[in-house]
Amino acid sequence: MHLHRRRLFTAFGAAAALSLPAAARAEMLRAESVPDLHSGAGRSVTVIGAGIAGLVAAYELQRAGFKVAVLDARDRVGGRAWTIRDGSRVELVGEACQTARLSGGLYFDAGPAGVPADHAYLLSYCRELGLPLRAVAATSPAGDAGEAKAGMLAPAGGMDRIPLAFAKALRNRPILGVEVVELRQDFGRAEVVYRERKTGALKALYSDFAVVAIPMPVLAGVRADFTPDVRRAIAAASATHANKVAFEAPRFWEEDRRTAAKRGLLVAAYNVGAPAVAFERLPLEEQIELARAAVGRAHPGREGDLANPMVVNWSKEPFSLGASVEWADPAAREALGEAEGRFLFAGADLSPLPGWLEGGVLSARRAVGQIARRSGGRTLIDIDDLAYG
Ligand SMILES: Cc1cc2nc3c(=O)[nH]c(=O)nc-3n(C[C@H](O)[C@H](O)[C@H](O)COP(=O)(O)OP(=O)(O)OC[C@H]3O[C@@H](n4cnc5c(N)ncnc54)[C@H](O)[C@@H]3O)c2cc1C
Repeated sequence: MHLHRRRLFTAFGAAAALSLPAAARAEMLRAESVPDLHSGAGRSVTVIGAGIAGLVAAYELQRAGFKVAVLDARDRVGGRAWTIRDGSRVELVGEACQTARLSGGLYFDAGPAGVPADHAYLLSYCRELGLPLRAVAATSPAGDAGEAKAGMLAPAGGMDRIPLAFAKALRNRPILGVEVVELRQDFGRAEVVYRERKTGALKALYSDFAVVAIPMPVLAGVRADFTPDVRRAIAAASATHANKVAFEAPRFWEEDRRTAAKRGLLVAAYNVGAPAVAFERLPLEEQIELARAAVGRAHPGREGDLANPMVVNWSKEPFSLGASVEWADPAAREALGEAEGRFLFAGADLSPLPGWLEGGVLSARRAVGQIARRSGGRTLIDIDDLAYG
């Protein structure tokens, strides 16, 4: 099945889609160019990174007849779309490992908490994968836990249900726990060298193309025979900062007495930008105490009800090294939209919607379209859709 702009507009309303910035709309038109069926014809692609961008790329490439292998350094798919559950380990660089304790199936979305109702591509994939979404009350970066943001949707059970649904739809399940350490091109093939994190063994995978869908700050530290221009472009992305602190507690913030009797998950601190830079410099214990005090100001006397704290400082997540990126030079981002030989770059960082899952989707569809064109595949654009350009 092919996603058409016209169908998406019908589903979500043209007004919502057209409210996106002009650059995002232009990117959407480019993102239209996913391949016709069978353009893959047995060619192979290694996808590096099983975040939303890598997974969408793999899903579309598989559909187009490519042989696809997906690699990820973590032991889970989803990347920044991370749902912490009881027993999850939070291993931040330079900090003691935290093991999450959450009772009764509670979970904590440490990254994204919802999908805006006008992020049409991602929502359309969720429908296609049979993943129902419901309206959610998202937290805002101002730290007002529980504040409802208009028009956000999320799967019941945690945001990682989205990447998990993609992973399930792949014939070759993503290979997890393998860190890509070097990228090379040789004899017209992409060579991807990775280290199995459990054994330390180094292995190399060869394919016709590779989609590099890892965050820019991480890519900057991977050895690669890229041209100096590409290296410079990657280095032009600087990481943005975001932190969340969550607790488990009786739901004292609910007005309904019956709901208030149950336990819930409270995101007590969510900060971004300069305040986040200062916040994450503090020891984890102090970050927890600041978050606890903020709850006390809003709900006096409730501090003692807050149990099982969890802190995520995104710039200390070793395979994220930031929440998102900012580009000192927008031309650098554009430059990485072009292929580097056998390597194509993808990821929300490269899209006009860098802080959103939808950005990852757009970038993936763009990379897949480029591979298909280079493989001689046709692209399908509904002639009616051109009117939206
Ligand atoms: C705090 C926070 C709140 C957010 N809120 C929202 C929201 O409400 N709604 C929304 O839509 N978006 C939100 N976002 C943005 C969204 O999470 C991202 O834009 C999106 O998840 C990025 O997807 P990606 O595939 O580009 O990258 P990632 O998800 O980072 O995936 C990259 C993958 O590459 C892997 N990797 C890294 N290095 C290597 C290596 N060397 N070898 C192998 N694999 C490697 C990583 O493990 C990871 O799985 C939020 C993000 C944060 C941090």
